[in-house]
Amino acid sequence: MTVLEKGNITIHTENIFPIIKKSLYSAHEIFLRELVSNAVDAIEKLKMVAFAGEYDGDTDNPKITITVDKDKKTLSVTDTGIGMTADEVKKYINQVAFSSAEEFVQKYQGGADQPIIGHFGLGFYSSFIVAKTVEIDTRSYKDGAQAVHWTCDGSPEFELTDSDRTEVGTTVTLTLQDEETEYLESSRVRQLVKTYCDFMPVPIEFEGEVLNQQAAIWRKSPQNLSDEDYLEFYRYLYPFQDEPLLWVHLKTDYPFEINGILYFPKLKPDVDVTQGNIKLFCNQVFVSDHCEEIVPKFLMPMRGVIDSPDIPLNVSRSALQVDRKVRKIADFIAKKVADRLKELYQEDKDQYVKCWKDLGTFVKFGYINDEKFKKQVEDILIYRTTANLSGSDEEKPTVQVETEGDAWQDVSAEGGIVYDGESYTTLEEYLERNQKRHENRVYYCTDPVSQATYVELHKSQGLEVLYLDSFIDTHFIGYLERDRSEVKFSRVDSELDENLVSQDKDTEIVDPNTNKTRSEQIKELFEKALNKPKLTIRTESLKADDPQGTPPAMVLLPEAMRRLRDMTAMLQQEKAEFPEEHILVVNTSHPMIQNLASLSQGAIVSEGSSPSAELANLICHHVYDLALMSQKGFDAEGMKQFVTRSNQVLTQLTNKAV
Ligand code: ADP
Repeated sequence: MTVLEKGNITIHTENIFPIIKKSLYSAHEIFLRELVSNAVDAIEKLKMVAFAGEYDGDTDNPKITITVDKDKKTLSVTDTGIGMTADEVKKYINQVAFSSAEEFVQKYQGGADQPIIGHFGLGFYSSFIVAKTVEIDTRSYKDGAQAVHWTCDGSPEFELTDSDRTEVGTTVTLTLQDEETEYLESSRVRQLVKTYCDFMPVPIEFEGEVLNQQAAIWRKSPQNLSDEDYLEFYRYLYPFQDEPLLWVHLKTDYPFEINGILYFPKLKPDVDVTQGNIKLFCNQVFVSDHCEEIVPKFLMPMRGVIDSPDIPLNVSRSALQVDRKVRKIADFIAKKVADRLKELYQEDKDQYVKCWKDLGTFVKFGYINDEKFKKQVEDILIYRTTANLSGSDEEKPTVQVETEGDAWQDVSAEGGIVYDGESYTTLEEYLERNQKRHENRVYYCTDPVSQATYVELHKSQGLEVLYLDSFIDTHFIGYLERDRSEVKFSRVDSELDENLVSQDKDTEIVDPNTNKTRSEQIKELFEKALNKPKLTIRTESLKADDPQGTPPAMVLLPEAMRRLRDMTAMLQQEKAEFPEEHILVVNTSHPMIQNLASLSQGAIVSEGSSPSAELANLICHHVYDLALMSQKGFDAEGMKQFVTRSNQVLTQLTNKAV
């Protein structure tokens, strides 16, 4: 064997490998991806050379073979690629490879503040992270090329000799360092090939078996893919998961190249939406499981694959975040998602609502955070509503609209979607339907359970209420109001629409001495009994077909006050306390309140603290507590008092009855 050359690799930083090794922490494994990528490149290059007519050997059966020898502690990657001549080894390996190694070190030492995405493009020299010696045995495709053998132990010294290799291609053999022998384990090698090389377009053989999937369906044209293809790919990437709700196929060449498929999964309640789940590839080579920087934040729960050679991957994550091209890619993704949503809204409303239940929050989040996205989706935001928009084609959907006097009339309600027995509407449709009764005023509910009384009251009078009950909605409403300054949102428990109260107040004079009306009397009774200076007591006669069905009293908290309280609580990261200043509306048309008035009237006539006066007092407290219950839960003390008083009231009532 002739030693062709012994020499020094011209690098300026001595001992770069310990530095690289340290900087990669746990990412040593990427060496295999780099070697296999080089092998794929070499195979592609040979194909090109053959295509250009400069090589007439076989290029139809390209293959990469990985072998391990536990005794010798070696791992080899063999390709059927272009190979290298001695000059090329000197040029590409000694110079190109090592100068990029130096570049990496400079970058790293220059304070790359965060880990570099997937440590991509480290190249050939990354083999020194795990190897004590690296050998290249290679023969160029060129006619009569002498095969060569290159050896290097990671120091700047190398040795280049002739090789008796006959086949065109390259074998890179690593003799592993003692602490890196895990890469001799079959399961480890398989796992690495699966992770990094699954979609590389050349068969990768190990222990007589082809390990990789090869076909990257995201590179195919959407026209050639069926729904089942997309679903199958999803199942392949995320086994044992629910089917995704929808997907978007990204495909463009200009002004940047990007291919990919993103899926919206069905979200589990405990999902961490700040954690990205999208796999990032560069030309079918796996780079990273985390590409939070590339996808707009509000699309973080999406899953799938993004493959783009235009994402700069050898910069730090923070540099990536501000990269203009990356921002454009993020915009492109957001636009594609919006297009898909619009398409679904137009073509399949049922499916749209089904997705909306999971997606709605993220769409709203996008609306808040991304001006362009907002413009795209503002017309397809939908809300669940109390209006009954159901009805077959023959039977037009209806809502009740008050015509002259108090008569209700069912009128046709345009728009709206009914899914699973629930009605959904856009804001525009809502405003249009309710223009006559409460122009530009939107009634909403944030908790269908605790606000059930209020919602029922509105419904009973034909007032439509929207459910805005996701955690983002309180915040979101503010943005909607900002964008449409004429529209105001009022929670069902913040005020009473004039349609809910009867205008003819109880004007019966009950006390001829003082000229007091029934309403004034009831107000006074409550004020005295409750004795809370910060509480405002109002009497109203709530409209109802059956007064017994209306609540005897309701607590109201004006919208502005509640929002301020919620905001302060949010800033202080506390649970919002229920403020002492609020309004108690006592419903004078409720039979129980009327009885209560008579009861207290009797007490006034008989003077002093009669049992009637005591009972009236207890009932006032009780009515207030019941009204308060939907606004705030009881604490231990409140609960104790409530139960004690309940028993007192019941005792007194039974005393009266016997
Ligand atoms: P990169 O692949 O990014 O150019 P590398 O450091 O991985 O950088 O490799 C340097 C060069 O060495 C490659 O550009 C290529 O010309 C050559 N090379 C590396 N591996 C092979 C191989 N298996 N077959 C042929 N040439 C190779």
